[in-house]
Amino acid sequence: MTRNSAGGSGDRADGNVAVVSDLDPDCTASDVEPDTPYLAEINGIVDYGVFVDLSNSVSGLVHESVLEGTFRVGQQLVVELEEVRENGDMAFVPVDVDLEADEVRIEAVAHDYPLTGTDRLAANVGEQIHLEGTIVQIKQTGGPTIFHVADEHGVVPCAAFEEAGVRAYPALEVGDIIRVTGTPEHRDESVQIEVDGLSLLEGEDEAEARERLEAALAERAQPHDVEPLIEWPAFEKLRPDLREVATLLRRTVLEGRPIRVRHHADGDGMCAAVPVQLALERFIAEVHEDANAPQHLIKRLPAKAPFYEMEDATRDLNFALEDRERHGQQLPLLLMLDNGSTAEDVPAYETLAHYDIPIVAIDHHHPDPEAVADSLDAHVNPYLHDEDYRITTGMLCVELARMIAPDLTDDLRHVPAVAGVSDRSKADAMDQYLELASENGYDENRLCDVSEALDYAAFWLRYNSGDRLIQDVLELDDAEDERHRRLVQFLADRSRADVDEQLEAAMHHVDHERLDSGVHLYRIDVEHHAHRFTYPAPGKTTGEIHDRKIQETGDPVITVGYGPDFAVLRSDGVRLDIPEMVSELEAELPGAGVSGGGHLVVGSIKFVKGKREAVIDALVEKMAAADIDEALSAATPLEN
Ligand code: MN
Repeated sequence: MTRNSAGGSGDRADGNVAVVSDLDPDCTASDVEPDTPYLAEINGIVDYGVFVDLSNSVSGLVHESVLEGTFRVGQQLVVELEEVRENGDMAFVPVDVDLEADEVRIEAVAHDYPLTGTDRLAANVGEQIHLEGTIVQIKQTGGPTIFHVADEHGVVPCAAFEEAGVRAYPALEVGDIIRVTGTPEHRDESVQIEVDGLSLLEGEDEAEARERLEAALAERAQPHDVEPLIEWPAFEKLRPDLREVATLLRRTVLEGRPIRVRHHADGDGMCAAVPVQLALERFIAEVHEDANAPQHLIKRLPAKAPFYEMEDATRDLNFALEDRERHGQQLPLLLMLDNGSTAEDVPAYETLAHYDIPIVAIDHHHPDPEAVADSLDAHVNPYLHDEDYRITTGMLCVELARMIAPDLTDDLRHVPAVAGVSDRSKADAMDQYLELASENGYDENRLCDVSEALDYAAFWLRYNSGDRLIQDVLELDDAEDERHRRLVQFLADRSRADVDEQLEAAMHHVDHERLDSGVHLYRIDVEHHAHRFTYPAPGKTTGEIHDRKIQETGDPVITVGYGPDFAVLRSDGVRLDIPEMVSELEAELPGAGVSGGGHLVVGSIKFVKGKREAVIDALVEKMAAADIDEALSAATPLEN
């Protein structure tokens, strides 16, 4: 029994006011309490008394022995429960309240529905149940309207039918708290509730339900407490930040909000994004009764540039708006991985800021924390804790994935090593990661093969996430599968053959000069002396030339691969600061349209075609002035 106002004692008076309860029509015998005056209506008169109705289903006898005076059908009477007989019949006695003469306050009583949580639907298939929850999505199909409702335990689709293709309960909105009365039924591999009735909770009922649901959600959003795969003091500094993101992502799933992942389209980026995607898919499947939910609620897409391009942002936004329109989805949370930390990301972020789209970035590129602070709801980056790119995004995200879905751990043990090899991390933790991988059958050659195969597959997949193929290349479901091993070997071999072919021509066109500092500078026009629009792309071509020159010389080396309006930089053993060089060039060469960035010693620069000469000359001058740093030697991350 739920009263709509405080009080509830059966005593008649506050002062001289008699309080009388009035059961709602849907109240049942379970809502009737002893010692409480109820408003009743006489529906029949017999020799031995009168029959009264308290609601549609609650009625009983008032015996003539307790009655005085005359009565008529339809007359209102105030009664209290006398007894419930063994057969369930109820007997009432009149209460001395004169509805005409006394001052009376009537309190409506709502039916107290026994709630069945979404965790007990399968056990109640075919039985009518009630549940309370928040509407997280309203999808209009050609048939019924599907309300996705989240309670303390999960999210269930509730099908309400008005007329084919016509919106049922048009007043209800996403975010409303409702009571569902309906029958759970199996539908494909899912459980769905066929709705008998939906009602919006209001007033105290709503506040109470909202508080209860929020408390349950906050508790369920808590990530799992997992020990990191390896002991690593540098990582410990980032662990609380990752925990915060894990909480935010789990909460996003519990709220039924979709998640869009954008990641750098390289080995480390994929080692970051794929485990997080798998972890979120598992958690979504755990939370949602709808078996198709993982597929609808998370999308992973590669980003070709090392920043969030306007092209990607406008597409993501339009896609999100279409999903809201067509499927009644909430707008997504955007998760940027191995990307998203710099001023270059801000225009794209600001485009999304016109809508309710939270943004989280986990990255290890040199950040502009102030520039992105206003745009990001959370920012995890080793540079924010006096660490650097050697903690790769893949290493961070494997731990993040385990906080969300710890049972993935066994599938992921080799992934941080692949990420580290891909980005050439010389972190002190690499030895432990390599050890961990080798316990799972991955020696360094095999790790290099996986990394190479990822690069190769990512290139040909272009704007496609290649979900299944990338999972096979990363050997995530069954690392012992011979087919995966052969696939990885094949792709890695193809990649190396294509690189060899590219370099066979290109090496003839590499210009060399020795800078005053003793550094070897190599330059190649990748536009004219390498194949275009094929693998390897200019960045990788430059990187491969650079690697060969380091091997050859054993000295500090800088390599510049340039095209009509871009240059790719690689360096080893030189103390470069590419983001700094870019801002200097911007100031020194007005009209050259210089922009770019990346890591400190590895990056890319864009400029206008007509100013190429001036930009490259200025660039070489700055490189010549850079100090040699033996400590940096061979500690260079790889960048495409
Ligand atoms: Mn990376």
